[in-house]
Amino acid sequence: MNLTRYQRQMIFSGLGEAGQRRLLASSVAIIGCGATGTVLANHLARAGVGRLRLVDRDYIELNNLQRQLLYDEADLAAGLPKAVAAARRLRAINSEIAIEEVVADFNPGNALDLLGGVDLALDGTDNFETRYLLNDACLRLGLPWVYTGVVASYGMTATLIPEGAAARVGREATGCLQCLLGDRPASGGPTCDTAGVLGPVVSVLASISAGEAIKLLTGGGEINRGLIHVDLWDNSFETFQLAGRRPDCPACVRGEERFLNAALGSRSAVLCGRNAVQVSAPDVRIDLAVVGERLAALGQVSRNPHLLRAQIDAYEITLFPDGRAIIKGVDDPDLARSLYARYVGS
Ligand SMILES: [Zn+2]
Repeated sequence: MNLTRYQRQMIFSGLGEAGQRRLLASSVAIIGCGATGTVLANHLARAGVGRLRLVDRDYIELNNLQRQLLYDEADLAAGLPKAVAAARRLRAINSEIAIEEVVADFNPGNALDLLGGVDLALDGTDNFETRYLLNDACLRLGLPWVYTGVVASYGMTATLIPEGAAARVGREATGCLQCLLGDRPASGGPTCDTAGVLGPVVSVLASISAGEAIKLLTGGGEINRGLIHVDLWDNSFETFQLAGRRPDCPACVRGEERFLNAALGSRSAVLCGRNAVQVSAPDVRIDLAVVGERLAALGQVSRNPHLLRAQIDAYEITLFPDGRAIIKGVDDPDLARSLYARYVGS
């Protein structure tokens, strides 16, 4: 393999050709391809991580372009899911690595599969429910991962190494996300949808996390063993030391796997601040053409190979082939499920 494209990072003594070859032999899952995920994926694809798995459940909207660096207006016009558009862009940047896109909700039913066979997971999600699930899954699989959270003008990152991964990555184990943030996902706090977010702060935090990924994959450098907190509005850069594993932690000490064991089934999730609800129907394959024909009698329908969109009354229904739908114009899960039953089927 010609390594010329990596020359500028290989002449950095900390990495070298040996480090580059380790990156090329590595596999990373990025969960969520919004602002954080696109910065992570961009860095790792350019750096030559050999296999990238991109997981995202959503499609591109106009207000994403301010900070989600892999997408453009043509992707928006094509109505592409984020994972599809991100993979296409990254292949144009580096055609020599393998990129796998997965348009799916990362949930208790597929979390272990979606993290199967990778060396590292990276958090590009926008909610704590999913992060706590990622925490459970990484503990089960003995997978190191990097947490990144950004809102408004500040954000934080932590590098988490389960006991089961410590020997393999040659680093001391750390506490887990529940040791760090407590037993319950924070709710009612500020989110990007209610408090907004500045593009540059995402790039700063996600770039620190991408640097952590490169160090973990190559075995070089000093990894972050604290919680790095950056606020670009008042220029504060701090690292808080972490206490390590909490002796009574339900996740990494007691192994309860509360989020991995959460009930699956027909379920709905309110998408924060979007006036939209996601409705999932497990184990269903939908023929978008058939549903599209039926819905065309009721409203305006458009379709691409990845999704179908129907505007019916005040609702915009986006339907994916796996039976999942994102229904806009509603924030009541019961109403969303009844709309789903009416227009898609139960
Ligand atoms: Zn823990």
